[in-house]
Amino acid sequence: MASDRGPPAGDPTLRRRIEPWEFEFSFDPRKFCKEACLLYEIQWGNNRDVWRHSGKNTTKHVERNFIEKIASERYFCPSIRCFIFWYLSWSPCWECSKAIREFLNQHPNVTLVIYIARLFQHMDPQNRQGLKDLVQSGVTIQVMRAPEYEYCWRNFVNYPRGKEAHWPRYPPLWMNLYALELYCIILGLPPCLHISRRYQNQLIVFRLTLQNCHYQMIPPYILLATGMVQLPMTWR
Ligand SMILES: [Zn+2]
Repeated sequence: MASDRGPPAGDPTLRRRIEPWEFEFSFDPRKFCKEACLLYEIQWGNNRDVWRHSGKNTTKHVERNFIEKIASERYFCPSIRCFIFWYLSWSPCWECSKAIREFLNQHPNVTLVIYIARLFQHMDPQNRQGLKDLVQSGVTIQVMRAPEYEYCWRNFVNYPRGKEAHWPRYPPLWMNLYALELYCIILGLPPCLHISRRYQNQLIVFRLTLQNCHYQMIPPYILLATGMVQLPMTWR
């Protein structure tokens, strides 16, 4: 049975997989983890082969490292579409967002989809603008949810024998709050989410403060999905 095995021994991505503790430490949306982690895959045209790898911050942020590495190692044939998927433990800062847009401007055949586990310093207006600009330039940004955690576990994690289906499950509340705030960022609305750190257990504490403009512009189903907003409320 597949569930009795670890990753297949012949899997060419095996040596590039990260350890389960590393995945859970880096991508738990309820915890503060200083290290940024990037799991990525690249697909060319109709080729079904997927190239997977992972990256970390060095003296530069992990996004910059990716761009420099990929731009120096790979030839981007303009006639072949390239699909890049990122699974990032933190959303890109404004400087990385700028570098990503420059990279995409130079490589218009590249489509980039970014899944994030957390929002990095999201109250900073420059970081907000950076993410908004990315979306406006065609990058898809979404908050990681259960299917992405499962996908990463199966494809990027060196899960132990018999633990194929043991990807970490997190309460949807955290993901819903991040998704709500990401929605505000994309719409250019002020922040509604306040995130503080509780040092014990490195847990993150969320506080939601909605303003009139949020009620007016965010679809009710997104607000209700947080579980922290309840009817009745006034929709304008
Ligand atoms: Zn950065």
